[in-house]
Amino acid sequence: MKIICIGRNYAKHAKEMKSDLPTEPIFFFKPDSALNRFNKMYLPDFTNDLHHEVELVVKINRVGKHIPLEFAHKYYDEIGLGIDFTARDVQAECKAKGLPWEKAKAFDNSAVLSSRFINKTKLDLRNINFSLGINGITVQEGSSADMIFSIDQLIAYVSQFVTLKMGDLIYTGTPEGVGPVKVNDKLEGFLEGQKMFNLSIK
Ligand code: MG
Repeated sequence: MKIICIGRNYAKHAKEMKSDLPTEPIFFFKPDSALNRFNKMYLPDFTNDLHHEVELVVKINRVGKHIPLEFAHKYYDEIGLGIDFTARDVQAECKAKGLPWEKAKAFDNSAVLSSRFINKTKLDLRNINFSLGINGITVQEGSSADMIFSIDQLIAYVSQFVTLKMGDLIYTGTPEGVGPVKVNDKLEGFLEGQKMFNLSIK
């Protein structure tokens, strides 16, 4: 199983990061050791700026390579919700040096994943609303309507380079409002108003 993450897929988030809008999808990986379904996150000691990025997560349901756009919808049935935790200070250092981001993105437990997934037939894929709350206050709100590249476009694009396999996860990018978490914060993720996960920062 691999975790594919999409960068800068929402224009307002690209803007808050002072990044240019991508002309094609940007992707990177997290290893399976990053998967976090434990309802808690320990602050790593190598960062002083751990940021939440709430994201829609697509679960791949079959093997595919060079998937044509018109068939991409056949490669997933379920949508979940996750957090792409990012050591923002480490990422800034990597970016400044022109180095890969893995240290800032791929560390243990950095890919929070809901235990629940929702069947896509129960969702309007062009307008899936989701949000993240911290201590009862909404900090990020997004909709798939604001994605620069749709789920189907992401699948078609990534599969030109990488074979997708059953169980692979695609974190589809975060909307604006990213920010730091601190010890004792209680995070809650919602998809179409349904609670998807609880997470305590330790
Ligand atoms: Mg992200």
